[in-house]
Amino acid sequence: SKEKGRNTYTIYHSVMDINGYKRFSLEKGLRKAIDENELELHYQPRVDAKSGAVLGAESLIRWNHPEWGLLSPVDFIPLAEERGLILPLTKWVIRRACHQIQAWQERGMPCVPLSVNVSAKLFLLKDFLVHVNQILKETRIKGEWVEIEITETSILDNQKLVESTIAELKEIGIKVSLDDFGTGYSSLAYLTQFKVDTIKIDRHFIRNVTTHTSSATVIKSVIHLAHGLGMRVVAEGVETVEQLTFLKQQRCDEIQGYIFSKPVPVTAFNQLLSKERLT
Ligand code: C2E
Ligand code: CA
Ligand code: CA
Ligand code: CA
Repeated sequence: SKEKGRNTYTIYHSVMDINGYKRFSLEKGLRKAIDENELELHYQPRVDAKSGAVLGAESLIRWNHPEWGLLSPVDFIPLAEERGLILPLTKWVIRRACHQIQAWQERGMPCVPLSVNVSAKLFLLKDFLVHVNQILKETRIKGEWVEIEITETSILDNQKLVESTIAELKEIGIKVSLDDFGTGYSSLAYLTQFKVDTIKIDRHFIRNVTTHTSSATVIKSVIHLAHGLGMRVVAEGVETVEQLTFLKQQRCDEIQGYIFSKPVPVTAFNQLLSKERLT
């Protein structure tokens, strides 16, 4: 069934298609998509490295475009950022995730915290926390059920503001993680600067772990360092048993990757949640 999952949910259009008229049309369409529910969240489990239990999930956005089918976030998140649509889009994502938690809790179903991706640019907005609080209040969801992954940490020129936003999120129970750790924008300096709960090691490091001793050494050190600072570590993009074995040996806390599941729609995710552990 892993094989089936692999083919069912990824009929994306290529980035190469997105230009000229289509780009113009996408931009107009995105505003409408946010208002008219053409967006959906898929969920990818975050799995306890030791027990195999599902501890949470990352929410990943997809656009179910009326003409072009399911579009990848890679094709429209940059556009949303350019066009000032990233705040309404992110609010939609957080609200949708909170509604999902609400639905699980109301039906007495298995329920795990959901993480959402938030562009670091939004941490520089004074209003961002007001919006987050508003959504929690409106959906009556405790902050403990939501985790924020800071992505695109390239423009953190106002680090004080980012630091205080992280602190305020923690005060309302929301955990914060540093996404894509190890890539150009998210590096060692951030570890001491930002008091995050979790770091997510970028999948490009994981990919080479069993073939390049340098990648293995870096991952080993990063896990050690993060644990020394009291942070949890998630490995992203884990695809093979060899990678998994290595990460377990190194005491990595959580595993996210195709080895357990691709991001899937909620009905498929509910099936994963009903299992005691994933294999
Ligand atoms: P990300 O935050 O690093 O999310 C992880 C990406 O890696 C996802 O791609 C996921 O499908 C993919 N992935 C997970 N496991 C594996 C694996 O084992 N192998 C490989 N090759 N890939 C794996 P996706 O869903 O296409 O998302 C791409 C990026 O789009 C995300 O990268 C994130 O930066 C952005 N994104 C997605 N949803 C949102 C959102 O709601 N808001 C914002 N601002 N950005 C989002
Ligand atoms: Ca992420
Ligand atoms: Ca990532
Ligand atoms: Ca990324």
